[in-house]
Amino acid sequence: HHALAGRFLTETLNTSPYTYEVAPVLVLMEEQVLSKLRELVGWSSGDGIFAPGGSMSNMLAMNVARFQRFPESRSRGNWDLPRLGLFASQESHYSILKGAALLGIGTDNVHLVRTDERWVGKMIPEELEKEIQRVKGSEPLFVCATSGTTVLGTFDPLDAIADICARHGLWLHVDAAWGGSFLGMPFSPQGLPKLCCFPPTRADSVTWNPHKLLMVGLQCSAFLLRDSSGLLQRCHGVGASYLFQRDKFYDVSLDTGDKSPQCGRRADGLKLWILWKAVGTRGLGQRVEYLLEQVKRREGFQLVTEPEFINLCFWFIPPSLRGQESSPEFWDKLGKVAPAIKEKMIRRGSMMVGYQPHGSRVNFFRQIITNPAVTRQDLDFFLDEIQELGWDL
Ligand SMILES: *Cc1c(COP(=O)(O)O)cnc(C)c1O
Repeated sequence: HHALAGRFLTETLNTSPYTYEVAPVLVLMEEQVLSKLRELVGWSSGDGIFAPGGSMSNMLAMNVARFQRFPESRSRGNWDLPRLGLFASQESHYSILKGAALLGIGTDNVHLVRTDERWVGKMIPEELEKEIQRVKGSEPLFVCATSGTTVLGTFDPLDAIADICARHGLWLHVDAAWGGSFLGMPFSPQGLPKLCCFPPTRADSVTWNPHKLLMVGLQCSAFLLRDSSGLLQRCHGVGASYLFQRDKFYDVSLDTGDKSPQCGRRADGLKLWILWKAVGTRGLGQRVEYLLEQVKRREGFQLVTEPEFINLCFWFIPPSLRGQESSPEFWDKLGKVAPAIKEKMIRRGSMMVGYQPHGSRVNFFRQIITNPAVTRQDLDFFLDEIQELGWDL
């Protein structure tokens, strides 16, 4: 509700933080929040801007990486560029492909690096190395590691990936849209392994969506940069003379709007600023713990993988299929269970829960609880309902 108060305020003020003179308090709040996020990443200096979502933040990262290597491409466009190579894991968010298309890099030039089955979807550093060697004829530029993958919620091994990027001189972007908020949470759920290689301190840039786990409301996505030399401004700035005059009487580095490819911009930092000043985040960990414990205890529920984050992926096995795990039709049949339960829950009007297949794994449910108002009774209802709807399948 603190963030909601911030959203009301933002809508009511309806102003755009182009420049300090237009929205002085909002610009200062935005800068303060960005600096707090950078501090949690482990940077004492740097840069950043709020973007309309994590997909956009990821695209900004690609654009800044390209500009840093080929500054002339800003004016000369593609005529100045060789064929570029981008690398991300098979589990990376689809916005990497969208970004490559939008920026004219081409989706064929996004190389999806294999992930580890055993460590449930982490990028394999040796495979990244091989992939970089393999793309002959293109110029490797950019690696996107994911901290908190969208489906399974796993964290790529950042240290090993950062070593490879350093060796090849590649830009390391960490997409922590989902997992970033782990840094702001004073909890460590029991039963979850310790996260290795996090925070993303060695990254050149980071995407972090407070509108996901921190529940500040759509939209609020930070694009953070380690560089503090003004790269972001040089990459996106145009210095329109009706807004960004250099001869103002105040510090014009506070005219931050030119760092964004947008003109008018929502003041997305305000609600996060209010939330932070008011509370911080607590208690989410306990809900994950409870659900995890219940899924392990209840008959017929089976984890797809031990969770590393708060993504809980599981199958419900109806009594008719129990004990038949070794039969050849088992997985085919199990794959039809989640869609059937989902149809029943929608027809009954009781819940909306997502399911999906993943690699060789057949359809499973994926539950992620971020809403602090969710109670244990809600979680019990959730599991009871699946059990009841799937009982006679
Ligand atoms: C959600 C997500 C995104 C995209 O963020 P939007 O704000 O929805 O555009 C990018 N990367 C990861 C890992 C995500 O989970």
